[in-house]
Amino acid sequence: MSQTPKEIAIIGSGLVGSLLAIYLRKAGHKVTVFDRRPDIRTVDFSGRSINLAMSNRGWRALRQVGLEEEIKKIAIPLYKRAMHVIGKEMYFQPYGKEGEAIWSISRGVLNRSMIDLAEGAGAKFRFDEKVWDVDLPNAKLYTGETEKGEWKEYDYDIVFGCDGAFSRVRHKMQRRSHFDYCQDFIDVGYKELTIPANEDGTHKLDKHSFHIWPRGRFMFIAMPNLDGSFTCTLFMPFEGEVSFENIKTKTDATEFFKKYFPNVSRDIENLIGDFFKNPTSALVTMKCYPWTYWNKVALVGDSAHAVVPFYGQGMNAGFEDIFVLNKLMDAHGDNWEQIFIEYQETRKPNADAIAELSYRNFVEMSSRTSDPKFLLQKRIEKNFAEKHPDKWIPAYSRVTFSERSYVEALAIGDVQEAIMKEVMKIPDIESKWDSAEVERKILDLLK
Ligand SMILES: Cc1cc2nc3c(=O)[nH]c(=O)nc-3n(C[C@H](O)[C@H](O)[C@H](O)COP(=O)(O)OP(=O)(O)OC[C@H]3O[C@@H](n4cnc5c(N)ncnc54)[C@H](O)[C@@H]3O)c2cc1C
Repeated sequence: MSQTPKEIAIIGSGLVGSLLAIYLRKAGHKVTVFDRRPDIRTVDFSGRSINLAMSNRGWRALRQVGLEEEIKKIAIPLYKRAMHVIGKEMYFQPYGKEGEAIWSISRGVLNRSMIDLAEGAGAKFRFDEKVWDVDLPNAKLYTGETEKGEWKEYDYDIVFGCDGAFSRVRHKMQRRSHFDYCQDFIDVGYKELTIPANEDGTHKLDKHSFHIWPRGRFMFIAMPNLDGSFTCTLFMPFEGEVSFENIKTKTDATEFFKKYFPNVSRDIENLIGDFFKNPTSALVTMKCYPWTYWNKVALVGDSAHAVVPFYGQGMNAGFEDIFVLNKLMDAHGDNWEQIFIEYQETRKPNADAIAELSYRNFVEMSSRTSDPKFLLQKRIEKNFAEKHPDKWIPAYSRVTFSERSYVEALAIGDVQEAIMKEVMKIPDIESKWDSAEVERKILDLLK
């Protein structure tokens, strides 16, 4: 169903705001995107920034507006995990079925392309213009240099808040009665470091792998960039025995990397300098509801649902919001009230599900990976899934390589967990984990 063109403002030119601008332009609307920051295309980050894993849900949203192939040119497929476990040779774990991959993409490079594409599609961008306030019932915006200074007023038909986890638009909605909101910081933070390219521009590590150095309560990961470098992230508790707090001096940092990451530390560029220069950032889960205000204002992406990054789904989920919103626009035409009601009712349970899955993955990575029982359970699941791929799709594949809902992925995950609890009760499971008896038991429990 076609729509009558509207004057629409999007707050935030991040990944979600710029993709939404492309969708809304395709639907014939006049779109202006505001961002408090300068145009990322003019900011020098030497091609390096945080990198993200794009998976099926993200690609589907890009495909719908004909951008999949264009964006794949700036992404690198990762077909496997490369595990760097202490005391073992590095080994690979393929992600899924043959050819299944997550794609490493620089957030900055992607954002630049998306803004170019949105501009090419006719969206107008107003950078360096911070939105301080929104008049929700009238879809008016107020921008200005400072909160107390002079503000400009803008009038729109609809406003989309794509202004991230600490959204100003949501902040305004929070002041209304019956608005639910919670945020939860985990006790783990992250710091970024870089492995530069070899002199000939090649990658120092296998470039088609997601590299992980798991160390129980902390871990180090590396994802490739197009220029031959890797962006690395150290996830570690803020406080405690092994923690950011306890690495105070250059010697502490040198000793830490020598002890826990000996095979990679020599490849990290300016390791000690960057360790102290780069910020230690926090990770938050944010939930809220409702996401819309009548037919005037809607939150999309991190402003509606920020999740911890341990499933690599934050951006993918935001892109899926847009895909769903677009379907509803097709179905309901000018009935924006209905579009917004169905949008939030469909997406909210899915956002909660991916928040839960992401948090569980954090707990699993940080506290269960050193538990022999847990590792055995994972081995049994993997063994069974290889024998019966039609009966047991691992949770990671259901989230990453499928377009089925997050709600379903979480529910099936719970059923699988209950089955595995029973299986782990089998006497002497350690010696018969790959036996026909265990396989039969799982098949029985699946009935
Ligand atoms: C360490 C880490 C790893 C991650 N890895 C992955 C991954 O592998 N895969 C994945 O899918 N996701 C990942 N994510 C999540 C992903 O980065 C986010 O979900 C995604 O960037 C959210 O996009 P957004 O456009 O909603 O918000 P943002 O990227 O936060 O953009 C918000 C924009 O709004 C602007 N803005 C804010 N306030 C105002 C205002 N008042 N006025 C005007 N403009 C404003 C900001 O300047 C910004 O440009 C990761 C996140 C982290 C922290």
